[in-house]
Amino acid sequence: MSHAMDLTQALGAIVGATHVLTDPQLTETYEHDWTGRFGGRAALVVRPADTEQVAAVVAACAEAGAAIVPQGGNTGLVGGGVPRGGEVVVSLTRLNALGEVDRALGLVPVGAGVTLGALQAHARAAGFDAGLDFAARDSCTIGGAVACDAGGARALRHGTARARVAGLEAVLADGTVVTRMAGLAKDNAGYDLPSLLVGSEGTLGIVTRVLWRLELRCDARVAALVPMESVEAAAALLAALRAEAPTLESCDFFLDDGLSLVLEHQRRSSPVEPRAPVYVLAECAGRSDPTDELAAALEQAGVEEALIADDTPGRERLWALREGHADAINAAGVPHKLDVGVPLAELGRFLAEVPAAAAAAIPGTRAILFGHLGDGNVHVNLLGPEPDDERADDAVLELVLACGGTISAEHGVGVAKARWLDRARGPAEAAAMRAVKHALDPDGRLNPGAVLPVRADQPSSPAAD
Ligand SMILES: Cc1cc2nc3c(=O)[nH]c(=O)nc-3n(C[C@H](O)[C@H](O)[C@H](O)COP(=O)(O)OP(=O)(O)OC[C@H]3O[C@@H](n4cnc5c(N)ncnc54)[C@H](O)[C@@H]3O)c2cc1C
Repeated sequence: MSHAMDLTQALGAIVGATHVLTDPQLTETYEHDWTGRFGGRAALVVRPADTEQVAAVVAACAEAGAAIVPQGGNTGLVGGGVPRGGEVVVSLTRLNALGEVDRALGLVPVGAGVTLGALQAHARAAGFDAGLDFAARDSCTIGGAVACDAGGARALRHGTARARVAGLEAVLADGTVVTRMAGLAKDNAGYDLPSLLVGSEGTLGIVTRVLWRLELRCDARVAALVPMESVEAAAALLAALRAEAPTLESCDFFLDDGLSLVLEHQRRSSPVEPRAPVYVLAECAGRSDPTDELAAALEQAGVEEALIADDTPGRERLWALREGHADAINAAGVPHKLDVGVPLAELGRFLAEVPAAAAAAIPGTRAILFGHLGDGNVHVNLLGPEPDDERADDAVLELVLACGGTISAEHGVGVAKARWLDRARGPAEAAAMRAVKHALDPDGRLNPGAVLPVRADQPSSPAAD
């Protein structure tokens, strides 16, 4: 009997045979990512139901010498959640228990497989807000969001997923379970392991539960879509919003060619006329109506034209223009997606130079740019290059580093940018990261090739003899 067969049986004994998938028709959806750019065959897919089962699955894989790819909602955009060839995919979606909200502390225990959308609804029902939001909300999981340290539009006010983590439970590479779920506001005893696991993209441990920090629910909301002549004018508007609107929650931007693509895809006519090079979409949220604050900021920035929406359908119509970028781009081709950050002072230069830099690397490459203005975070989408041709990506990342920016602002490194990590972080920090990885996962079994480039002596297949 082969090692792979042994492992299938061992895992079936832990989770039940129906939750070990080997039929290619059943494993297929776990093997390709959302962009269609990344993927490979899995040895099998295993679907544990709770922490105990995850721990037993990881221990069985360790014994069989099998590499693991943890997977949540499979909405990640850097190829870190799908197999590259022969790994065991551990799907966490069955860990979907949502605990009771502790109203005094504003905390709620959440299973790693709960979707962000389900957590948002649960928090709202208890009078709170999840404090995190982005377009993949109905598919992405809390474990995945924490593993990637996801951001989104509201990070401007509430921080990234990291700021939501008041505690965490995880299974380490040898199957041991670490639990920090007491929710103590102050706890300085030793290294902060939960912090290390946030953003580790499944390479240091498998997140099984999170103690989620909630925000106050603010139902009085107003959004403004503001056409702007330049990125510099948009930055001046951001400064005015910060000065006049303490309720500012998000401040995103997109460009005119992106708007055209979205309108075409959504078969909508433009709500803004005349059109402009840059659009800022800002939203304020408070306990009482924030319209006056927003109006004061627009006036201070000298804005004469803006679309304002203070009702939910109106705000959703405005946000559909920004959030519709991902779908519209995917409909236009298989994009190379780069999620970078640059200092605000360099944003104008960066946006102006990306299209030419990408097209110089691969003629005909089209760059669609949008993102979170308040965080200097730009989603660079390149249409045209073949899936494996990284020349345009490399040109954009060179420009990012020249602007003093980061190769990943919120999507993570995954496999897409692993070979850039040393350049981006420098040799000292990259060496420290390798030391941490080696200490927690000496055999390199957890998500090999994600974040850090794969080592020659690492296993990639569970069946490797
Ligand atoms: C339309 C769309 C919009 C998006 N918008 C944003 C945005 O605005 N901001 C943003 O930050 N991101 C955004 N994303 C990408 C974002 O990274 C994911 O949506 C989310 O963080 C991943 O969650 P997931 O459950 O789908 O994880 P997956 O895709 O399944 O996995 C992502 C990574 O996390 C690891 N992982 C998953 N679950 C666990 C776990 N329980 N323990 C350990 N590791 C785990 C995987 O191995 C992989 O490396 C968007 C994606 C889409 C498709």
